[in-house]
Amino acid sequence: GAEISARNIDALAQHMPLCMQNLHRTLRRDAHLKHFGRLQYSLFLKGIGLGLEEALAFWRTAFNKITDDTFNKEYRYNVRHVYGDVGGDQNRRGGGYSPYSCQKILTEHPPGPGEAHGCPYRHFDVDNLGALLQQVGVTDRAVLQGVREDKEKQKFHMACNRQVSFCVLPIWNVFEHLHRKEIEKARADGVMTANQLETIVHPNEYFKRSFLLKN
Ligand code: SF4
Repeated sequence: GAEISARNIDALAQHMPLCMQNLHRTLRRDAHLKHFGRLQYSLFLKGIGLGLEEALAFWRTAFNKITDDTFNKEYRYNVRHVYGDVGGDQNRRGGGYSPYSCQKILTEHPPGPGEAHGCPYRHFDVDNLGALLQQVGVTDRAVLQGVREDKEKQKFHMACNRQVSFCVLPIWNVFEHLHRKEIEKARADGVMTANQLETIVHPNEYFKRSFLLKN
C-alpha cells in the first residue's frame, strides 16, 4: 500500500531525502526527537499528506517510552498546532505551519549536540555524512565522492539532488543515483520535462518525485 498513513511511514522512508531519513532513524532509535526535529519532521509528514489523526497516531506510537498522560500533556498540543487545529486565529485559518524548504533547513537553527534536525549535507562532518549515506543504501563510490566535493564547495542541495546535469555528467548525486533507472525511463518516455528535472529545493518535492518515480 502506497497510502500515506501512520503505519506506512517506515515503508515511505525510502522516498525521503536524507534530512528526513535522519530524523526518522533517530526517532526509531531513541523513541524521541527534540523540539526542532519534531517540528521539521512533523511538517514534512504533513506536507506529504499525513492527516492530523494519523500524525497523532504516528507520534504517539513512536514515543513508545512515555505514558499516554505525558504524551497528551507535552506533545499532543504541538502536533495539533502544526496542523492549525489549535492556536491563534491566524494559525487556525492558515491551517498551521508550512513545511520547511531546504533554504530554511540549511540556514535556520543549526542543530546542537543531540539534535537531529537540519541538513546532513551541511551539518554533518564528511565522515558522518558518508556513514549515514551508506546506512541508507548509497554505497557507490563515485556518488560518495561527488557528495564530498559538493559539500566542500558548499553546494549542499546539489549533493542531495542535482538533476540538471544528468544527461551530460556522470551521476554524482544521491537522488539521481537512487532513481537512475526510473529517471532514464521517464526521460525516454518523455514523461518528465526539463522543468521537472531541475534541482529540487524542497524536501517535500524530493519525496513527491521519488514517490511518483517508484510507484
Ligand atoms: Fe533535506 Fe534539502 Fe538537505 Fe536534501 S538538501 S537533505 S532535502 S534539507
